Amino acid sequence: MASILLVEDEVNVSSFIKKGLEEESHHVEVAYDGAMGLSLACSKEYDLIILDVVLPQMNGTEVSKRYRENCGYTVPVIMLTALGSTEDIVTGLESGSDDYLVKPFVFKELVARINVLLRRKGMGFTAKSYEFAGLVLNTETKTVSRAGKNISLTSKEFRLLELLISSPRRVFSRTSILENVWDANFDYNTNVVEVYMNYLRNKVDKGFPVKLIHTVIGMGYVLKEDDDENTK
Ligand code: CA
Repeated sequence: MASILLVEDEVNVSSFIKKGLEEESHHVEVAYDGAMGLSLACSKEYDLIILDVVLPQMNGTEVSKRYRENCGYTVPVIMLTALGSTEDIVTGLESGSDDYLVKPFVFKELVARINVLLRRKGMGFTAKSYEFAGLVLNTETKTVSRAGKNISLTSKEFRLLELLISSPRRVFSRTSILENVWDANFDYNTNVVEVYMNYLRNKVDKGFPVKLIHTVIGMGYVLKEDDDENTK
């Protein structure tokens, strides 16, 4: 099941696609013009976006371009084009979309393209479980435990820990954490990352002799076992 944003102004087309994708057990939200599409796309991280090219307010190519430039998500985008000329396809791909489909298309083909992009994104096949130094995070069951003891996290704390544990020993900058866990429209001067990192430390590290969440001064945050003088 994926969360999909569909931007399509023709009501009969959008309701047909929405209904079909819901039968494939996806969750679908619809925007009926480009401006609304862009604002919804930037409001949260969907798993996939389907974007028509010819739209009122702002065309799909412009939506895709602004989305890539301003929203900070790396969500796959499929463009729907009625035009089908090589030039339109190239423009669409250059604006940052991952795939395109020429209207009219067979619904099965849309489903196949969606599955390819979701698979590339690592969705829908295996349950994702990360393990590091006795800390276990499962993205399907949304559970976290350390040394067999369950840890209860809020959704933001979970996303934050998921980011860290997906690449142990990699240092994440405040900016990349903000972009991955919070809306990219966030005020970059906020101390929300520091605040949430402290919440997470209290839940994940408190009471354990080995600390896993480390601050790398002037750089960001890292999940690792060992301590050295550059971190605290
Ligand atoms: Ca249209």
